[in-house]
Amino acid sequence: MSDSKPITGLILAGGQGRRMGGVDKGLQIFRGKRLVDHVYERLAPQVGGIIINANQNHDAYKSFGVRVVSDAIGNFAGPLAGLHAGLSVSRRPYLASVPCDSPFLPEDLVERLMARLNESGAELAVAKTGDQPHPVFCLARRSVLDHLTNFLKGGGRKIDAWYASLDVVEVDFDDEAGAFSNINTREELANLEDVTTEEGTTEVGTTLETGARAATVAAGAAAAVERLSPPPGDAPARASWSASPARAIAGDALARVVSRDALERILSCMDDYDPNALKVTSAREVIRSFLAPVATNEKVAVRAALGRVLGEDIISTLDVPAHDNSAMDGYALRHADLKNAGDTELRLAGSAFAGRQFAGKLGKRECVRIMTGAVMPKGADTVVIQEIVHTEGDNIRVPAGQKKGQNRRLAGEDLAAGKPVLMAGQPVGPAELGLIASLGLAEVTVRRRLRVAFFSTGDELASVGSELKQGEVYDSNRYTLYGMLSRLGCDIIDMGVVRDDPASLERALKAAAADADAIITSGGVSVGEADFIRELLGKLGEVVFWKIAMKPGRPMAFGKIAHAGNEAHFFGLPGNPVAVMVTFYQFVREALLVLSGRTDDCTLPLLQVPCTSSIKKSPGRTEFQRGLLARGERGRWSVCATGAQGSGVLRSMAEANCFIVLEHERGSVKPGDLVQVQLFHGLV
Ligand code: AMP
Ligand code: MG
Repeated sequence: MSDSKPITGLILAGGQGRRMGGVDKGLQIFRGKRLVDHVYERLAPQVGGIIINANQNHDAYKSFGVRVVSDAIGNFAGPLAGLHAGLSVSRRPYLASVPCDSPFLPEDLVERLMARLNESGAELAVAKTGDQPHPVFCLARRSVLDHLTNFLKGGGRKIDAWYASLDVVEVDFDDEAGAFSNINTREELANLEDVTTEEGTTEVGTTLETGARAATVAAGAAAAVERLSPPPGDAPARASWSASPARAIAGDALARVVSRDALERILSCMDDYDPNALKVTSAREVIRSFLAPVATNEKVAVRAALGRVLGEDIISTLDVPAHDNSAMDGYALRHADLKNAGDTELRLAGSAFAGRQFAGKLGKRECVRIMTGAVMPKGADTVVIQEIVHTEGDNIRVPAGQKKGQNRRLAGEDLAAGKPVLMAGQPVGPAELGLIASLGLAEVTVRRRLRVAFFSTGDELASVGSELKQGEVYDSNRYTLYGMLSRLGCDIIDMGVVRDDPASLERALKAAAADADAIITSGGVSVGEADFIRELLGKLGEVVFWKIAMKPGRPMAFGKIAHAGNEAHFFGLPGNPVAVMVTFYQFVREALLVLSGRTDDCTLPLLQVPCTSSIKKSPGRTEFQRGLLARGERGRWSVCATGAQGSGVLRSMAEANCFIVLEHERGSVKPGDLVQVQLFHGLV
């Protein structure tokens, strides 16, 4: 998608799927993914943004991270209602609509409709093959919205009847006759599923992404589709992992898809991808592009929402404050009564307290004693603080120079009715809890928690509480991981220590992949150890092994693995305890936050301070030294490196309160040089 395109794409998925046995059509699995995935992938490159119209299963459609809207005029009123919903919320000047059951829609649909629309000056362009118009494949100017609203208000529901009342241009797509075939029944779905394409044929579906190895449990049919390699002549797939949500619920059956070659495809598009000397920034970029965030919501009581991610926008139903009220203790008065110069004498007509308002209306040259938070009396527009007022019995004297409206809080100043207060994807902190409560809401819709499974690998690991034998070390990584994951608010599944043997590892990885959204392991990814793990992970999904140009934390594995109809993101961290923490904070933390549904910028801030130590470093890798940030003479902050910086010296993390981040290109640091630091505060 390109923001610069002035066109919103609308996927019409608002039907009941009656002919599909009441199962939502867009969510039916076809060639390894949902129909709506096919449509999204074809439409996205043609438009500037996408909206989906659906009247059920919003969570499943929200997996794209785009806006999902229901019909405004009663559910399941047909495509015109969907078009209306899309036009109502779209902000771009044009809207291109396509149905969710047309996986073969032309790749140049929007471009061709747009060319004719502009040429003809019509209000709407519609695709046509032969004599057959395809009314739901259309491009409308947003200005037709009023006309459509009136048509629907008048009881109109038929799309052809609406077109008849508009200036419409039909656009021939005779060269792409098959592109408009849609899928209405299970039989059609099954028949098209079987079509295998041969090189040179023009049969529909020749550009489908069959390169993906897909494991699918489709609704009803429970059909497993296996495609190991793309048939010759297949066009390269355009889908990216982030745009092909794997966690879709089709009816009551789960559909899980691992795009086996997606990772490699994206890596091959990177300019300077070198798995053996990968820059920290490139590793972050790759990880970010593969994340498929949780899209399922649940309702929780307000307090339980602390630390969670909002699942829906919160729109204010009230003005907060509900009334104009006083910001100070003083006297409420009519500004017009005050003289321009000299004191004004006013008569005290009563008082107003918070929760107990002044019942009357302020007359000429009257004032009311008012307390902070009390509702402004009728007629009063200004509050004068008590400290500058002289009282004499029932009269007060106010000096000149008061500003109209001063010390008055306006109704709706904090939150205005109808306005969005908080957006889906925002984290809920103490301020958000208070805001939600100020609207009187007792429950909040939040994303479900991310499930993260983790285990340590290594034959040398002993569990705490057992006696240490010759050559053993206690497993500390699981404890740091437990701590870091708990702080992120994940549901954690601690799978213990797994021995360095293929059968145990396979068992553990499969169990984790079947159950979790993300899997974190420590150890076993360094050269020498990686071979059988590499093979195993390759069997279960798609995982790449990296040597990252960083210290500590060089070896790391990343990808996705699947088992038993579920798939999970995989992070294989190094074994050294400091490397575990560094790679977690530099790569995994942000990834998990995004996976949890966060849409704000979750990167850790970097602050610049002088360094008092000298640090040796060669350009060509990013270093994360453990530092102690402290206030020195005259209160100035500076950082020094904590002693031993070995990647096995966990004490260096405990002694530090920040990372000193030495950038890729940077050389050694002299005392007094400025360096960047990342605070542990609120993190570790
Ligand atoms: P590896 O990456 O498996 O080669 O491990 C690198 C180093 O980290 C070795 O010295 C391991 O003993 C140590 N190590 C690996 N896993 C753990 C763990 N869970 N707790 C403490 N040390 C570990
Ligand atoms: Mg090991």
